Amino acid sequence: MSTKTATIDPVKLDRLAEVAVKVGLNLQEGQDLLLTAPIAAAPLVRRIAVHAYQAGAGVVTPLLSDDQVTLARFDHARDESFDHAAGWLYEGMAQAFDEGTARLGVVGDNPMLLSEQNPDLVSRASKAQSEAYKPARERITGFDVNWNLVAWPGVDWARLVFPDLPEDEAVTMLADTIFAASRVDGEDAVANWQAHNARLRARTDWLNAQRFSALHFTGPGTDLSVGLADGHEWMGGASLAKNGVVCNPNIPSEEVFTTPHAHRVEGYVQATKPLSYQGTLIENIAVRFEQGRIVEASASRGEAVLQKVLDSDEGARRLGEVALVPHSSPISQSGLLFYNTLFDENAACHIALGQCYSKCFEGGDSLNREQIAAKGGNESMIHIDWMIGSDQIDIDGVHADGRRVPVFRKGEWA
Ligand code: ZN
Ligand code: ZN
Repeated sequence: MSTKTATIDPVKLDRLAEVAVKVGLNLQEGQDLLLTAPIAAAPLVRRIAVHAYQAGAGVVTPLLSDDQVTLARFDHARDESFDHAAGWLYEGMAQAFDEGTARLGVVGDNPMLLSEQNPDLVSRASKAQSEAYKPARERITGFDVNWNLVAWPGVDWARLVFPDLPEDEAVTMLADTIFAASRVDGEDAVANWQAHNARLRARTDWLNAQRFSALHFTGPGTDLSVGLADGHEWMGGASLAKNGVVCNPNIPSEEVFTTPHAHRVEGYVQATKPLSYQGTLIENIAVRFEQGRIVEASASRGEAVLQKVLDSDEGARRLGEVALVPHSSPISQSGLLFYNTLFDENAACHIALGQCYSKCFEGGDSLNREQIAAKGGNESMIHIDWMIGSDQIDIDGVHADGRRVPVFRKGEWA
């Protein structure tokens, strides 16, 4: 056990809190804030509260989770517990969002927390949780209010990302990596984010003007045509929530993304990074699509978990997102596997199984479920991103008349 304590730069931590409130949320005067975080992230939570109240927040309500409490359930709860979730809490969250409350999530838990637990109990608990969370999740994926995720360098997470370092150094390294990726290294982090958002905006403007009908990915083990949904819209960086607030949901964020057509994906694709899913590492995923549906799937490790995920519901075998991230992005250049979607999805081009973002349609705010489905938007209770990008991937944009435009060459914008 290390007796040294990790050094987390207090100035950069404060800047991260400031960026979360001013850029991530763009918290409005008088707006309430619901904040979820691991208990260990209290130093960041407290700085966020300060910046939120300075920005004129109404009431800031933190909900803290604890890995030890989660494990206590798996060690001691009666069997019925695993088909149960705190539905009242998510109903309350949904009500808070309906009343205009902003939402901020701090990630940083141990990604492998449940890896030693009985997989059946894990999957039952996660199913119950996923169903109960639905009212709150719908409002978040539907972008009803401004929301944001930022990261805290949790000890177990740091040890996983930097297995060869002593614990205190691992935490310091992860903290510094989070600060760099979150663009809070420089003096004026808020201005840095404005410049970054403008660059992402130039990409989405170009893609939206092209109106491709499909993207064609080629590379080692990959020949995949991803049809794009009718009336799809590319998004990235800053975006407008339905409550009229422009916010940055993910910090860090390097991706531009849109909605694929749930029935127009053909070919095969190989994952370029392992997928960490609820404590299981799924490695070397390879799948084949026919008419949008995964008809063959394999993995060199964690295949049983992958199959279970694909059987979650009707939409779990179809795509809900396709995203482009250049190989030169800072997170990709770190060469690290973060076991955390917020970071890993910003390291490489990726696709997501499951639920689509209704926001990724022209006029998406006013479309109902049936209209989204008619345009090719997928529906599912899961949304799982996995990485298919590398420095060897080429992507062509394909127009409806078959004309092709280079979009990516060897992992970079063409
Ligand atoms: Zn994404
Ligand atoms: Zn995603």
